[in-house]
Amino acid sequence: TAERKPLIAGNWKLHNNHLEAIALVQKLAFALNDADYDAADIAVLPPFTAIRSVQTLVEGDKLRIAYGAQDISQHEKGAYTGEVSGPMLAKLNCSYVLAGHSERREYHHEDDAIVNAKVRAAFASGITPILCLGEGLDVRREGRQVEYTLAQLEGALKGVTEEQVRELVIAYEPVWAIGTGEVATPEDAQEVCAALRGRIAGLYSAEAAGRTRILYGGSVKSGNVAAIMAQPDVDGALVGGASLQADEFVALIRAAV
Ligand code: PEP
Repeated sequence: TAERKPLIAGNWKLHNNHLEAIALVQKLAFALNDADYDAADIAVLPPFTAIRSVQTLVEGDKLRIAYGAQDISQHEKGAYTGEVSGPMLAKLNCSYVLAGHSERREYHHEDDAIVNAKVRAAFASGITPILCLGEGLDVRREGRQVEYTLAQLEGALKGVTEEQVRELVIAYEPVWAIGTGEVATPEDAQEVCAALRGRIAGLYSAEAAGRTRILYGGSVKSGNVAAIMAQPDVDGALVGGASLQADEFVALIRAAV
């Protein structure tokens, strides 16, 4: 809706070394124009090893593409081998970081308490978390998708202030629709996104809920994004596979807004 600027974010997952990342951002920058950036916030989320290169390109050429990371440590520093902290990401001028992507929840056993700590770590470093939520196929078959995602939301928001929740981005990503080609119907997306916004209104205020951007994610492509974006509580898209080709990602952005 008009009060919330759409956000289209590309989650590259485990794709693109730093040279490939530079090439892809250059292609995006070549294709995108001011009208695109005015219509939507556009972000890419490369692997950690490519963020510095993307930063150098974006800042050197004053590109209007935002960037961020796919994960953040819940810890600020210490004996946590392999982790990357919020202050480190902030030093790279990351605007966004994913928290609780379903692949992290599944393969790295991140539960709601860890996701909550990551959301708070992001805010503590001045980075906007993109909080990922969504039910698996079993929950969907039982028709419990709303209560399930609302429980994930409440778990992730403990200790998060109203001021922070206004900045927060949520991505509703039904697990059964991620990378499967199985896209939720626009009505499926709207049902859960509206429930999430309603719960934020209840926990905080209607004013705050009117600010929070709620994205849909799960097999979004240039051909299906318009119908999903037409839903009143869907403010953008978190895009995996379709963000890896510049021409498809640009077509998706233009179809979305
Ligand atoms: C994602 O990784 O967040 C995602 C939605 O992936 P895909 O678009 O490939 O389903």
